[in-house]
Amino acid sequence: MKHAIYPGSFDPMTLGHLDVIERAAQMFDTLTVSVLNNVAKSPLFSVEERVKILEEATAHLKNVKIDSFSGLLIDYCAKKDVHIVIRGLRAITDFEYELQIAQTNRKLSKGQVDTIFLTTSLEYAYLSSSSVKEIASFHGDISQCVPEFLVDRIHNKFS
Ligand code: ADP
Repeated sequence: MKHAIYPGSFDPMTLGHLDVIERAAQMFDTLTVSVLNNVAKSPLFSVEERVKILEEATAHLKNVKIDSFSGLLIDYCAKKDVHIVIRGLRAITDFEYELQIAQTNRKLSKGQVDTIFLTTSLEYAYLSSSSVKEIASFHGDISQCVPEFLVDRIHNKFS
């Protein structure tokens, strides 16, 4: 059975993330989307909130599970007995960062954890969690960036 993990901050999740999730879910028997609990960042949404949001957004995808983790991704993969990580690529800037992380994970895990990249769908190439937060902080329109049910929840964080 093929199982992959899509890790990320998802703070907040965007339609770009959802697009990667939907496409990866078609390629694997099970896809676990896992929220990284990064203590170094001060997030807009708590890990619990982000997990709930992802659960709501992926309710239509029966082979997608939502989880969270802290610590090293390769340790989490070993615990789950998963060997494939999914990441998304938007532009060359993502590539430099993602390449380094993917190679580090492969080396540290002694070849047990490999990364598969899905290139962004063109309509979401511009989209990032940080730009959504910046637009929302100025009360701008984020309806083309995130699922509809999430629009007010993000705006409420800035009201
Ligand atoms: P990070 O895990 O680096 O904090 P995010 O949670 O924002 O980043 O994103 C998780 C993954 O999804 C990363 O691989 C990122 O490149 C990818 N991603 C983010 N936005 C998009 C998008 N619009 N299209 C495709 N992939 C994306």
